[in-house]
Amino acid sequence: TPPVCPRCSAARPGGEPTIFSKIIARSVPATILYEDEKCLVFRDVAPQAPVHFLVIPKRPIPRISRVGPQDTELLGHLLVVAARTAQAEGLADGYRLVINDGKHGAQSVYHLHVHVLGGRQLGWPPG
Ligand code: IMP
Repeated sequence: TPPVCPRCSAARPGGEPTIFSKIIARSVPATILYEDEKCLVFRDVAPQAPVHFLVIPKRPIPRISRVGPQDTELLGHLLVVAARTAQAEGLADGYRLVINDGKHGAQSVYHLHVHVLGGRQLGWPPG
């Protein structure tokens, strides 16, 4: 059998509330970089680059493969906030946005999130 991502073995793809709901509710602490009525931005607790933060909708969409036309404006907003926050974090030499989906995408938290990684030279392709 193929190796399973260790972070993903505890993942619950069924749409239950995740730790990110608790971060939105402030019952779990996070380093918050930006917030508005539709989204929250906070630093990843296990950074994979000198700058690594997450942009999440407050509405708990579980994964990118579950979005529909009603989410178009919200998804656009997440990307605009990601770019603005990257600029505020000083990522003038570039950065990468990542959305992991499901088992093959190594998604571990089933609350949609955009990773923003930067502050070093990133490789391609990803693993
Ligand atoms: P995924 O693999 O795309 O689902 O990534 C989930 C991300 O959430 C990982 O990079 C984790 O390090 C991050 N993460 C998990 N729990 C927390 C937390 O409590 N605070 C901040 N980041 C978290």
